Amino acid sequence: MTNKTPKAIFLDRDGTLIRDKNYLSQPKDIEYFPDTFEALQLMQTKGYQLYVITNQSGVGRGFFTLQDVTAVHRAMEQDLVQAKLSPYAGWGVCPHAPDQGCQCRKPFPKLILDFIQRDQLDPAQCWMLGDKGIDAECGINAGIRGGVVREKNNAGPYDYYDTLLAFAQQL
Ligand SMILES: [Mg+2]
Ligand SMILES: [Zn+2]
Repeated sequence: MTNKTPKAIFLDRDGTLIRDKNYLSQPKDIEYFPDTFEALQLMQTKGYQLYVITNQSGVGRGFFTLQDVTAVHRAMEQDLVQAKLSPYAGWGVCPHAPDQGCQCRKPFPKLILDFIQRDQLDPAQCWMLGDKGIDAECGINAGIRGGVVREKNNAGPYDYYDTLLAFAQQL
């Protein structure tokens, strides 16, 4: 696929692409959902670039370092390439604790807005997906579409999909 497509899907990491291990900080703890790669492949086949947008407050809380986060993301990049998919177009990480008053922690839209501008994406063709209401809200705050996957109890007023694959299929 081309890198020029203005269509994008912004994905939450923990609880969406991989199981939420509660402050995961080592590549060995990465565990995908059964449908993760099939869903990502379908998204790319349908012409969407994939980005990851993740709150990693474990950095701001001093549980682990930004280097640890980068090592996990490097491993996830390799997993994607091994699955014969195109690399992620971008990684947006908020390393701050909630009380640090940053502007990049979801549901703030800054990380998404920066990528939309950098890569000239079309907001009308972009989504933010995650397992929590704040993920959907983050997308809506960025002027794109938002939805919740996997955790129905977290969906609140937002569009809900049982699985990432179910989301990809309806695109
Ligand atoms: Mg999550
Ligand atoms: Zn932040």
